Amino acid sequence: MQKTRSNTVNKTLSNTIAELQQGIHAAAKKSQRDPNEITLLAVSKTRSADDIRSAYEAGLREFGENYLQESLEKIAALADLTITWHFIGQIQSNKTRPVAEHFAWFHTLDREKIAKRLNSQRPEALEPLNCCIQINLSNEATKGGIQPEVLPELAKTVMELPQLTLRGLMAIPAPTRDEQKQRENFAKLALLLRQLRDTLDQAGFDTTKLDTLSMGMSGDMESAILEGSTIVRIGTALFGERSIGTKAPKTDGTNET
Ligand SMILES: *Cc1c(COP(=O)(O)O)cnc(C)c1O
Repeated sequence: MQKTRSNTVNKTLSNTIAELQQGIHAAAKKSQRDPNEITLLAVSKTRSADDIRSAYEAGLREFGENYLQESLEKIAALADLTITWHFIGQIQSNKTRPVAEHFAWFHTLDREKIAKRLNSQRPEALEPLNCCIQINLSNEATKGGIQPEVLPELAKTVMELPQLTLRGLMAIPAPTRDEQKQRENFAKLALLLRQLRDTLDQAGFDTTKLDTLSMGMSGDMESAILEGSTIVRIGTALFGERSIGTKAPKTDGTNET
C-alpha cells in the first residue's frame, strides 16, 4: 500500500471525519433519530485516489463520484479496497453502461430512458442497482431532476425493473444560508417520499426498501438531518475546497469525454 501522505495529514482527516460524525450524531439526537440510519457519503469528485485511500484508512467506506471518466480511473486504482461507490452526477443516456457495471448506487435518476438502460446493462452477477430519483425542488432548469408531479409515474416504471431497486429520493436545493429555507426544501422532499410510499403501497408495490432521502451537503447538513436525511453527501467539509470551476455540480455531462 502506498503511503504518500504524512501522518499529520491523515490525523487531520481523521479529526475532520470525527467532527462530521459528531455533527451527524448531534443533529440526529436533536430530532430524536437513530444516528445509525444516517450515512456519511464522502463526495470525492476531483480528489485523487490517494485522498480516497486516506479517507478509507480513516474509516469511510462510501464514496460519491460525479464524473464518469475520472471515477472509473479511481475505481480501478482502488480495486483492493471494499468501497461502496455512489454515482451522484448527471450522465448522458449513452454513458450508462459503466455506471451499471461499477457502481452500487445511482442518485440522479430522472429519465425512464436511463432507468431502462441501467436495468438492461446491470450485470446479473451484481445486486440490483440502488437508485434514487432526483427531484427538482427549486424549479431551476439547471439543477437536474424531475418535477414532483411526474414522480409517481417514473417511480412505478423503476419499481418494475428487476435489476434496479428504487431506494428513495435525492435533491440539490438552491444553496442558501437561511436555515429556515433549507429546512423547508428538505421537508418538501421528505413529504414527497412519504406520499410516494403511500401511492405505491396502494398500487400494490413492495415499498420496504424505499427508505432513502439523499439530501444535505457541507453547507446544509444539519438542516437535512433534522428533516429526515438518510444519506448526507459531503465534499468540501471533508476534503476542503475544490479548485475554482469545479465547485458547482455539473449538470450537462460535458466533462465526461
Ligand atoms: C459536489 C456535490 C456534493 C458535495 O458538495 P459539498 O458542498 O462540497 O459538500 C454533494 N452532492 C452532489 C450531487 C455534488 O455534486
